[in-house]
Amino acid sequence: MHEFELIEQLFANAGYKRPDVSLGVGDDGAVLQLRDGFDLVVTTDTMVQGVHFFPDVDPRALGHKLIAVNVSDVAAMGAEPCWLSLALTLPEVNEPWLRAFAEGLSETADYYNCQLVGGDTTKGPLSLTVCAKGVVPRGKAITRSGAKVGDHVYVTGNFGDAALGLLVEQGQIEISKKHRGHALQRFHYPTARVAIGQALRNIASSCMDISDGLFGDIQHILQRSKVGALIDVNKLPLSQALRDTCSETQALQCALSGGEDYELLFTVPENKRGSLEILLSPYGVQVTCIGRITGAAGKLELRQNDQPFDYNHQGYRHF
Ligand code: ADP
Ligand code: MG
Repeated sequence: MHEFELIEQLFANAGYKRPDVSLGVGDDGAVLQLRDGFDLVVTTDTMVQGVHFFPDVDPRALGHKLIAVNVSDVAAMGAEPCWLSLALTLPEVNEPWLRAFAEGLSETADYYNCQLVGGDTTKGPLSLTVCAKGVVPRGKAITRSGAKVGDHVYVTGNFGDAALGLLVEQGQIEISKKHRGHALQRFHYPTARVAIGQALRNIASSCMDISDGLFGDIQHILQRSKVGALIDVNKLPLSQALRDTCSETQALQCALSGGEDYELLFTVPENKRGSLEILLSPYGVQVTCIGRITGAAGKLELRQNDQPFDYNHQGYRHF
């Protein structure tokens, strides 16, 4: 297969066929219909072999994850994900591998109502980059800079499962048969919290998705909002799989520093807490209050059983 056959066969029709795509793959650029009164949200995420995934990873899972992590960033802005482009750098054309990758990518894009509208294909060390675009009603994007002193700090889902899945994948931990599938699923097939992100538009004062570990990532909200936070580590939502498999110390380390959970972290003013519970109840996604925003700018204070909890592991950093 040469480059253009490859694009035509595997990527030209990937994802959901959106009515607002006037022109998708095949021209010099895609033509997308914008809505009046909406802002465009744009984000890019790259996955590099050896850094973000193992060479032997299931290509279908890789296709899934590449889309989910990009859609997660759009979701964290409170936006509706719409369009994707894909920059693909491949060492060779391995057709079965590419087919499975494209299927995983297309299924996941379809699940989130996103269409692949373009990209670029080049030869080189395996690297996958997606640019995701979404829309949000004008002025309604939820940023990292809006947290205020006294706001409550919430998270969706459970923390640490993806880190557990990575330990399982690497054969570094014993896990029961009962929990193995859950941990691996959470590591390989993360879910972007798209519906919740949009539901938070008029409720959350700030929001972000957690890709590099809660402990490190929350600092972005603290820095951009010029506030501090007091987090009760006993309140961190941990799955039964994590509790049963790890010691308490290890479980907390997975939850605080393990990356790739792609859950949302958000802050809610006191007077919006009631609407939060009502608005989120139909989604069946667990949300947990883990602490409060304080006036100690840039300072993250962790507590356990009302005692200071000493912790200084960083999340993942490339440099
Ligand atoms: P150009 O040379 O104008 O950049 P290309 O020949 O690189 O165009 O690509 C042809 C068409 O295929 C373009 O519409 C481009 O967006 C699309 N495309 C290229 N690579 C990919 C890919 N990996 N996935 C989806 N679309 C792609
Ligand atoms: Mg090109």
